[in-house]
Amino acid sequence: MTSIEEENGSLTLKLWLKPKNPQCPVCGGSAAIHGYYSRRLNHATFANRRCTIIYQERRYKCKICNLTFHEDNPFINTSEGLTYETKINILKDLKYPGATYTNVARRYNISVTKVLRIFDSHVRIP
Ligand SMILES: [Zn+2]
Repeated sequence: MTSIEEENGSLTLKLWLKPKNPQCPVCGGSAAIHGYYSRRLNHATFANRRCTIIYQERRYKCKICNLTFHEDNPFINTSEGLTYETKINILKDLKYPGATYTNVARRYNISVTKVLRIFDSHVRIP
């Protein structure tokens, strides 16, 4: 979801990820949305105008142990590839019968090539 605001001829693009139902990384309990944290991602040029992207990072709070944590997102920590948790989730998802590289890639917002690379580097087929 995005919204665009214009100010002095420059564009500000706000975006949110679709809400998921995450599990608490500590106790595995279900979590509720706790709030949003604005992260300024980058400046880009869009149609010769300055464009700022603001990513509204969603924070969750565990209903059981009250831990607050942020959602997995494709924007932060992408220089190193993916977070460890994401890799584990990808490998878990690939185990489901009927899972395809394309589906998994779309779910995690990464390229099919990257999914293949993760699979190849973590799974040994005898
Ligand atoms: Zn918890």
